[in-house]
Amino acid sequence: MSFETLGLSADILRAVSEQGYTEPTPIQAQAIPVVLEGGDLLAGAQTGTGKTAGFTLPLLQRLSTSAPAKGKRPVRALILTPTRELAAQVGESVATYGKYLPLRSAVIFGGVKIGPQINKLRNGVDILIATPGRLLDHVQQGTLDLSQVEILVLDEADRMLDMGFIHDIRKVLALMPKDRQNLLFSATFSNEIKRLADGLLDNPALVEVARRNTASETVKQVVHPVDRERKRELLSSLIGNGDWQQVLVFTRTKHGANRLTKQLEQDGISAAAIHGNKSQGARTKALADFKQGKVRVLVATDIAARGLDIDQLPHVVNFELPNVAEDYVHRIGRTGRAGNEGEAMSLVCVDEHKLLRDIERLLKREIPKDVVDGFEPDPRIKAEPIPNGRNGAGRGQGRGAGGGRSRGNRAGARTGGNGNGNSRGQGGRNGARRRSATPA
Ligand code: AMP
Repeated sequence: MSFETLGLSADILRAVSEQGYTEPTPIQAQAIPVVLEGGDLLAGAQTGTGKTAGFTLPLLQRLSTSAPAKGKRPVRALILTPTRELAAQVGESVATYGKYLPLRSAVIFGGVKIGPQINKLRNGVDILIATPGRLLDHVQQGTLDLSQVEILVLDEADRMLDMGFIHDIRKVLALMPKDRQNLLFSATFSNEIKRLADGLLDNPALVEVARRNTASETVKQVVHPVDRERKRELLSSLIGNGDWQQVLVFTRTKHGANRLTKQLEQDGISAAAIHGNKSQGARTKALADFKQGKVRVLVATDIAARGLDIDQLPHVVNFELPNVAEDYVHRIGRTGRAGNEGEAMSLVCVDEHKLLRDIERLLKREIPKDVVDGFEPDPRIKAEPIPNGRNGAGRGQGRGAGGGRSRGNRAGARTGGNGNGNSRGQGGRNGARRRSATPA
């Protein structure tokens, strides 16, 4: 199978081959012909499968082969993503793959000035990549017209629903012409996603691919049992003794990410935090510094890390286990990508035994335990509840009835006030807050 046989134009093939891609990934091989034919698509694929090129290449081709509208350029394709990072990455892909085509694209998300975005939109944009909140802000301000959208892509739709964007999505749908092509990408298929797909897609082709790496294949996993108060010391010791130069560390809360970053710095280990309370500039810089090796440790919350594409990340550390077992799989999927060996360590204290059991049940296997010398857990220490985690305030609030198990948990963990001292608002989950609040 080659890109040539998929029916893509020479200008697109040239851009693809410049990326060094020699053959399409499975999602690309299946999705590209469907999208080129103009049909709707329901695709089960997560980050790392090559899904972005899977929808971007045929989308570019369709727009470049049909007649451009006369006069002002209307937005003809809209790609919605849950997070700013993902929007930026998809935007880069669109620009890269479309570099030999006379199409214009723009990325719009919150947390940055709206003025430059308005100017871009005013000059005319064929392809718009956006997060839902800022998109609606533009619509409200009258700076964006979606009435001529021909192709809609919902990328990581499951995550958009987890983050409470369903109402925003519905508002956006109402602004577009009914007659259009719809592509829905999702890593998981909850009932909620199926409902959204039923209402949105017309006789869709179904494409589903396995994860490029399943957790157990290339990622070496280990649990280091340790006392709650000694995790930071253990982490610094592992980084120092192992001479790790690039480590992605997960915490449950933004506050925890900030605190750990400071403590690592105090231990002489360069670190940066990435989460939703950081300005977009700070997030972009943290990621760039980490990729370039200027900082050794990137400390992230789950949502901020979603969509980060960092090649060959050797070490992922769960400083705290996630409240939702599925997030463990997403987290450790950041290492061992594309067949590279990776290592995922979890520092687990007595409070987290239940979370660990949930994860092991999901993986259908036990994760090997390894007590690090000098960090033996003190058996006298009793478990304490995890603040605002599983039983957190706001669990399942405002999502309507009939939610699935993980959805309720996610709502509690992510949006219902996540136990950090500096979250905006008080966990009120009205539309306005959601919109102005950054996807963590
Ligand atoms: P995605 O799942 O879209 O986030 O893509 C994951 C990674 O795979 C990105 O770094 C892409 O640049 C890369 N990629 C996409 N398509 C191909 C391909 N056909 N061959 C090799 N790498 C690819």
